[in-house]
Amino acid sequence: MENYPAKRIISPEIRTEDFEMEGNLRPRRLSEYIGQQKVKETIEIFIQAARERGESLDHVLLYGPPGLGKTTLANIIAGEMGVNIRVTSGPAIERPGDLAAILTNLGAGDVLFIDEIHRLSRPVEEILYPAMEDYAIDIIIGKGPGARSIRLDLPRFTMIGATTRAGMITSPLRDRFGVISRLDYYCVEDLTTIITRAASILDVKIDPEGAREIGRRARGTPRVANRLLKRVRDYAQVRHGGAINKRVAVEALEFFEVDPLGLDEIDRRLLRIIIEKFGGGPVGLDTVAAAVGEEADTVEDVYEPYLMQKGLLARTSRGRVVTGAAYQHLGIAYAGKSGGPEQGSLPLP
Ligand code: ADP
Repeated sequence: MENYPAKRIISPEIRTEDFEMEGNLRPRRLSEYIGQQKVKETIEIFIQAARERGESLDHVLLYGPPGLGKTTLANIIAGEMGVNIRVTSGPAIERPGDLAAILTNLGAGDVLFIDEIHRLSRPVEEILYPAMEDYAIDIIIGKGPGARSIRLDLPRFTMIGATTRAGMITSPLRDRFGVISRLDYYCVEDLTTIITRAASILDVKIDPEGAREIGRRARGTPRVANRLLKRVRDYAQVRHGGAINKRVAVEALEFFEVDPLGLDEIDRRLLRIIIEKFGGGPVGLDTVAAAVGEEADTVEDVYEPYLMQKGLLARTSRGRVVTGAAYQHLGIAYAGKSGGPEQGSLPLP
């Protein structure tokens, strides 16, 4: 994911330009957290139960694509429990000693949030097992025959892990989470609400249809919604004196080349290449990646999930297949059956 093209306006990954804005826009309470009803209710029940028993909250694993609100939710949980949160990430914890230092500094009930938890190294992950299960860590002191292990007790803390790749979490780690919640792409209604809320915080004038238009093109992702709002605001200010309505939003988003489904130039190019060079598929991931000039991981983690969610692309055992809906979206004649083109059914360019 590191090689995500920096210029993409609809990148779901956090970018420097988001920092200042995300601080203000991040909901602080569960009641302000829009959408993800099921996840919210689950968390609400666990929080209330833990509070009533005066205990710390069980460990929570949140998974789903970037920008959907995992970090936000972790902060909210800590806030609702009235405890401190320590934020770190898998790649940032290099050695077991780094994690031991973090754990021994936690207070009772505190939340430890580890983003990208699937990227923890094995030796670091092994420290987590007894920490999560028994609230203790074993530290080896000394080297060679004189080395001995001592057990350090930890306060009862709550671990919140976040990952975009649930499949990459080892089962011993996954088994130690009491609550596992999956975040899904947001519907247009929820994104419209998020945009309206953000606009009022940022003091941007926007009407409901304008907010909806941005919501439709935000790839189901709050982070993208907020970023598009900011870009449309700039455009509206310079070209239209400030206020955003549907017409201004459409014009601005077309200017930024974000189409009505939220696809940008690179998404469209990927679909087009599969259609034009490979007859719509099936074609292997590596071949697609080479043809668009991207890493296979980037194609798989960043481009494909949204294209699949929109029903434009399917992963089959024989490779990637572009669906009839994609042909229609790109305005290319489609000769195949519904669900995906037959092999060899080369559509007209
Ligand atoms: P993740 O950790 O999943 O990558 P974040 O928690 O950093 O995503 O969310 C990105 C931004 O999107 C937040 O700063 C916040 O402004 C916005 N956001 C996310 N989820 C919601 C939500 N449910 N309601 C309102 N805003 C949200």
